[in-house]
Amino acid sequence: MTESHPLNLQTAARQIKTWGTELGFNDLRITDTDLELDAARLKAWLGNNMHMPLEWMTDHGDMRYTPNSLLEGTQRVISVRLNYLPEDVDLIAPLKNENAAYISRYALGRDYHKLFRKRLAKLAAKISEAFPNSTQRALVDSAPVMEKALARKAGHGWVGKNSLIIHPEDGSYFFLGEIYTDLELPIDQPDDADRCDDCEACLKVCPTDAFIAPYQLEVKRCISYLTIENTGPIPLEFREAIGNRVFGCDDCQIICPWNKQPATTNEVDFSPRNDLDSADLSRLFRWNEEEFLTATVGSPLRRSGYHNFLRNLAIGLGNAPSSDEHISLLKQRLAENISELLNEHIQWAIERQESRRKRRRKSKRA
Ligand code: SF4
Ligand code: SF4
Repeated sequence: MTESHPLNLQTAARQIKTWGTELGFNDLRITDTDLELDAARLKAWLGNNMHMPLEWMTDHGDMRYTPNSLLEGTQRVISVRLNYLPEDVDLIAPLKNENAAYISRYALGRDYHKLFRKRLAKLAAKISEAFPNSTQRALVDSAPVMEKALARKAGHGWVGKNSLIIHPEDGSYFFLGEIYTDLELPIDQPDDADRCDDCEACLKVCPTDAFIAPYQLEVKRCISYLTIENTGPIPLEFREAIGNRVFGCDDCQIICPWNKQPATTNEVDFSPRNDLDSADLSRLFRWNEEEFLTATVGSPLRRSGYHNFLRNLAIGLGNAPSSDEHISLLKQRLAENISELLNEHIQWAIERQESRRKRRRKSKRA
């Protein structure tokens, strides 16, 4: 944009950041659109089929790394961070409790998209109002965008070996959103020095060995993919390793030393609903479809759908300590014959429960 404006661009950038803070964002930084380096990494990753079976990742050609092709004339990207970890939510206890259902900590409350989009749209509208001849487009997971690459360039942190953006003080529990703009705002400097050093904790802790190398995540092995996007059966080789993780996984964040004192949020929308931060596997497995739909209004859990949520819970119960209660609950659900896919997972769980019960009885007799 070359036209003169009531605000100069330095002042505008400061003003936009102030508006961002007023709207509740935790940080807002500005970068240019040169993603050449990151595009090369993305192409190599896609070339090795690490994204599969998420075929849609190649759907938009170069749009992902050329912001200009998504919004013509884009000069800058405003990268915005919103923390999501609710205060006082335990990360470890439910993971260690084999009778509990572990739900990724980002998914305990209301789906962030609505809140984030609304705020980002407000911010874009304010910018458009201050710069009447400029164009803005707000994006939250709604278009092919290299949000982590943009966040790194903008100075939100570095890309850790777990492939997440890590902020040196606040850790990695945050969502990212972007506004593309044709205003030539002054850019912020990256602070992307790799602080992972010789740490490999995230690579080692991953229950399903999803990292084929540092920074290289193989999607089809990741529990987040397996329990959320995957609509088919969960391969046998991963079932035991999945443990009680019934919706997503946070292990490679929890273990990270830069998350020892992570930034939290007091956004009411992100507070746990229906005690999902400490729910029992059996309580959730008892939900009928209506109860599931009522309990998950506006929740990210809707993404897996009822049947696949039960599928995940069946795996959790198969890995839970053996008990008569678990076995009878699983048999009850099997008798309902909800779907072939679910039945197969329930049968797997019953076999695991029964074989452990047999072993326990044998060892008692010995
Ligand atoms: S989210 Fe879990 S399964 Fe996926 S890479 Fe991280 S530790 Fe591994
Ligand atoms: S756990 Fe270690 S290697 Fe992994 S992202 Fe954190 S600092 Fe880097």
